[in-house]
Amino acid sequence: MAAQSELFLCPTHPNEVQTTPFFDAIIIGAGAAGLFCAGQAGQRGLKVLLIDHADKVAEKIRISGGGRCNFTNRDLDPAAPHKHFVGQNPQFCRSALSRYTPADFIALVQKHGIPFHEKHKGQLFADRSAEDIIAMLLAECEAGGVTRWQPCSVKKIDFLASSASESCWGSYQIDTDHGPVSTGALVIATGGLSIPKIGATDFGYRLAQQFNIPLIERKPGLVPLTFDGAGWAPYAQLAGLALPVQIITGVKKNRMAFDEDLLFTHRGLSGPAVLQISSYWQDGTPLAINLAPTADLPAALAQGKARSRKLIANELATLVPSRLADAWAQREADWQRPINEASDKALARLAEQLARWELTPTGTEGYKKAEVTLGGVDTRVLSQQTMECKTQPGLYFIGEVVDVTGWLGGYNFQWAWASAHACAQALPMEGQ
Ligand SMILES: Cc1cc2nc3c(=O)[nH]c(=O)nc-3n(C[C@H](O)[C@H](O)[C@H](O)COP(=O)(O)OP(=O)(O)OC[C@H]3O[C@@H](n4cnc5c(N)ncnc54)[C@H](O)[C@@H]3O)c2cc1C
Repeated sequence: MAAQSELFLCPTHPNEVQTTPFFDAIIIGAGAAGLFCAGQAGQRGLKVLLIDHADKVAEKIRISGGGRCNFTNRDLDPAAPHKHFVGQNPQFCRSALSRYTPADFIALVQKHGIPFHEKHKGQLFADRSAEDIIAMLLAECEAGGVTRWQPCSVKKIDFLASSASESCWGSYQIDTDHGPVSTGALVIATGGLSIPKIGATDFGYRLAQQFNIPLIERKPGLVPLTFDGAGWAPYAQLAGLALPVQIITGVKKNRMAFDEDLLFTHRGLSGPAVLQISSYWQDGTPLAINLAPTADLPAALAQGKARSRKLIANELATLVPSRLADAWAQREADWQRPINEASDKALARLAEQLARWELTPTGTEGYKKAEVTLGGVDTRVLSQQTMECKTQPGLYFIGEVVDVTGWLGGYNFQWAWASAHACAQALPMEGQ
C-alpha cells in the first residue's frame, strides 16, 4: 500500500512534486468486474489501485451459483445479445461481448487449472467452489501488481477539470479513509443494489448523478415474485414443490416465455422459471403458466375418463406432482369427483386452466433476494468500445452498475468479465 505521506513525481512533469499518490487507474469495487479489470489493466503495465469498502473481496462470486459460481454460459451469442440480455439497448454490449467471449474466460479458467462442468443450457460451474474463481482473479491482480485497499471507504470524489496540470496528474481527486489519491482514469465497478447485507450500495448511481450522467430506473431482477392476500393461501401449502413449467409474460412484441422449473414458496413463486421471467415482468400485469407443458391435457383427461374411476385429483397426479393435483382439484366442486363422472365441459375447463394458469403477482421479494439490479447507468452516455462516459472524460462504468442485465445462467458474470476487459484494454497508460 502506498504510504499517505509519500511524495510522488508526475510522469510527464518530473520536476513537480505531489503529496497525493497517483495511479494510472483507480477502480472502485472489488467484485467480479473490478477484480478482473484491475488484473487485466495491471498486466498491461498500468499502476492500478483497487478499492472496496467490504472486508472480503467478491462476496457475490462467493455466494453465486449455490457456492459453485456459474461463471459463464457457452450458449451466449455475442452477435445477438438481445437474446440473453435486458436493458434499454441490449445491442450496447455486443462489442465488449464479441471481444471477450465465454471461450476466452474458459481458457483463463483452464490456464489456472480450475476444474469445471456444464449443467443444463450451457451453464458452466466450478467443480469445487466459487473460491477457485476468486483465487484466480486475485492471482491475476497479483500478476498485474495491483494495489488493493480494503476495507476502505471512499468519502468524496472531485473532478479537477480546470487544473493546469490536468493532462498529466489526472483529473479525479479521491478522498478515502486510507488518505487522498488521484488518477486520470476512474473506473466504477460497484455493482447493483441486490443483497445489501454483503456490501451492495448505490455508490455507482450516486456518483453518476454527481456527474449528471442519466440513469435508467432501477428495480430488482432475477427475483422471486410474491402474491399477498387470501387468494394465495391454497398455494402456500405447496411451498417447496418444484415442477417444470412454461411461463409467459407480456403480449405481442413484449411477449417473453421460459421453459424452466418453477418452485412454490410460502409467499409466492420462485425457481429458474420465475427468476427469469421477473426481469421482464411489469408491475400489475399477469403471468400465464402452463403447469403441464409437455402433456396433451385434453387427450389425457379424455382417456382417463374412458378407462378410470379414480378421483380427478388422482388421475391428474399422473400428469403433475400429486400435491399440486390435490390443490388444483380443490379449485372447483366439479373436479372433486371420480373422473368417469365428470362432464366433458368440466374436464375441458380443467385442461384449459392447467395449461394457462393466469395470476398477477403483487410484488417481488425485493433487493434482499434479487440476484441482480435491472436498470442503471444509461448506456447511451457510454462508449461501447471502452465503457468510458462520453460526457465525463476519464470516468468508466463496468459490470452490473450499467443498464445491462443478463439472464440467469452465467450471463451476468460474462458481462462483468467482458465489460471489464473492454475497459482494461482502453485505459490510458501513464502520460498518454
Ligand atoms: C445470490 C446471487 C447469486 C448469483 N449467481 C450468479 C451466477 O451464478 N452467475 C452469474 O453470472 N451471475 C450471478 N449473480 C449475479 C452476479 O453476482 C453479478 O451480476 C456480478 O457479481 C456483478 O459484478 P460487479 O462486479 O458488477 O458487481 P459485484 O460483484 O456486486 O461487486 C461490486 C463490489 O463493489 C463493492 N462496493 C459496493 N459499494 C461500494 C462502495 N460504496 N465503496 C467501495 N466498494 C463498494 C462491493 O463490496 C463489491 O465488492 C448472482 C447474484 C447473487 C446475488
